[in-house]
Amino acid sequence: MDLDAARLPRARHEVLGTHLSSWRSWAVRSRCSHLECPPNRMIAVTDIADSRGDVTLEGMADGIRCSACGATAGAVSLVLRLTAGESIQRVRSAA
Ligand SMILES: [Zn+2]
Repeated sequence: MDLDAARLPRARHEVLGTHLSSWRSWAVRSRCSHLECPPNRMIAVTDIADSRGDVTLEGMADGIRCSACGATAGAVSLVLRLTAGESIQRVRSAA
């Protein structure tokens, strides 16, 4: 998948099996399903790939934890910052 294709919004089931190497320019935004926890800081996809390897988005989302309480993140999205704004690809929605 090239980057232009990755910018197009897609159904979640189609992207869950893609690997981090397809999303190098993107960052991961996540938040806990506990509303009292603050949102996690954004993490560059390349930083996750450096520590976890070229896992799938589904595997990546399973490994994202809340920085406050340590629970598995309830909502995980990929975010690409563009000059015109942000492109967002949802990976997991809040439970
Ligand atoms: Zn939390």
